[in-house]
Amino acid sequence: MKKVYFITGSQDLYGEEVLLQVAEDSKTIASYLNEKIDGVEIVYKSTVRDEASCVEACACATNDDDCIAVITWMHTFSPAKMWIKGLQFLKKPLLHLHTQANEKLPYDEIDMDFMNLNQTAHGGREYGFMVTRLGVKREVIVGYYKHEDVIERIKKFLDVARAVDFSKNLKVAMFGSNMREVSVTDGDRVESQIKYGWNVNYYGIGDLVALVNAVTDKELEDKMAEYASLYEMNTTDLDAVKEQAKYEIALDKFMKDGGFGAYTDTFQDLHGMKQLPGLATQRMMAKGYGFGAEGDYKTSALNAILVEMAKGRSGSTGFMEDYTYDFTKGEEVVLGSHMLEVSPDFASNKPKIEVHHLGIGGKEPPARLVFDGVEGDGVAVCMIDMGNRFRLICASIELVKQPKPMPKLPVARIMWKLKPDHATGAAAWIYAGGAHHTVVSTALTVDDIRLFAKLTDTELVVIDENTKLDEFQDKLDMLDLLAKLK
Ligand code: MN
Repeated sequence: MKKVYFITGSQDLYGEEVLLQVAEDSKTIASYLNEKIDGVEIVYKSTVRDEASCVEACACATNDDDCIAVITWMHTFSPAKMWIKGLQFLKKPLLHLHTQANEKLPYDEIDMDFMNLNQTAHGGREYGFMVTRLGVKREVIVGYYKHEDVIERIKKFLDVARAVDFSKNLKVAMFGSNMREVSVTDGDRVESQIKYGWNVNYYGIGDLVALVNAVTDKELEDKMAEYASLYEMNTTDLDAVKEQAKYEIALDKFMKDGGFGAYTDTFQDLHGMKQLPGLATQRMMAKGYGFGAEGDYKTSALNAILVEMAKGRSGSTGFMEDYTYDFTKGEEVVLGSHMLEVSPDFASNKPKIEVHHLGIGGKEPPARLVFDGVEGDGVAVCMIDMGNRFRLICASIELVKQPKPMPKLPVARIMWKLKPDHATGAAAWIYAGGAHHTVVSTALTVDDIRLFAKLTDTELVVIDENTKLDEFQDKLDMLDLLAKLK
């Protein structure tokens, strides 16, 4: 199980009796958090009281591969020069929990001993100054640790911290390369690895074809039975479906053997394959793998990371593409889809397996899952490479029911409304350089993406109900200028 270190700050000045109380209160809080938060172990660490113990705690967290984050709490005053070296060692997401062992002030009893023991308000500021001075990105959560909203905020921080940890170990397989001449899906893979840890490498499609050809009859039979149990078979062309079943089995093996969490493909490089992977890729996305079409490694990685972040929450998350609009005045809506690859995580009804002609790539008609999409509040997120930095663009969106059936549309789809209105939301996205490929999620919020951007030191622009185009463009100009100064 992944771990989170709980480190309390104090100092030697107060004497052993106070430090014993500090340790006891810290253990109480750590064990309370352990009880309330699933999926990670909150590990109590001995109180930091001088530079050496601080370095020891922070270096230990940095060197522990299982440690995804550090929570620090200043029970008392903790002179922050002793934190400098430790914080310089710390390479894990940091949460400063500005809490107290007590909820209420004991008005009748309070004396100077109580004041000296319980001075988060005081010590948290001294420590906070040093974290700010060192430029360490962190989250600050203020409140009594037993309050439900505080626990919820800690959980959300840990979801993002887990996603950052996942990112640092993510391997992405690119079958083929970026679609020829396409710009926004491309990027600096070396910089992606330096900044986010993504190990992105190219593989010839022949490596996958070899596994496709090795699929056994038994494997194929089991896979077809699985499809029949999960989906409605709305085709008589079972050979086309079997072809995709082989792709899924082959992809599964390839990803597991190589330890990959995400992949891309491209319809321009399908030598030895009869179809573009459709149903197969939809199945892989349903299992949590990241995917980016047309060699879009950034969206593929982001997809896997946001799926990891959303684990344990309700809602849907997946690769998406802005396709076409309904421009009816006042009822504008975006139709999002892809030529095949929409995650069944978005399905609001039982998906149907269908086989249709695909007018691109020159291959046989591929099998795919077709369904209508879920509704609810969500985000659309993309990452672009600005040349001197990456930029995340996050739009707050509302997924809506499709106004009318689309009986002739042979792909899965979702629909959403932009904020603050269609014209402003779409224009802002375009001014920001936002891609047609995104990751859409109804499990995540703008705050989650904001925190991910902060902890990974990534430029972020948000488009939401407060967006005004003039201010938004000023901000983009300012960000360009800031990037030049760095
Ligand atoms: Mn595309």
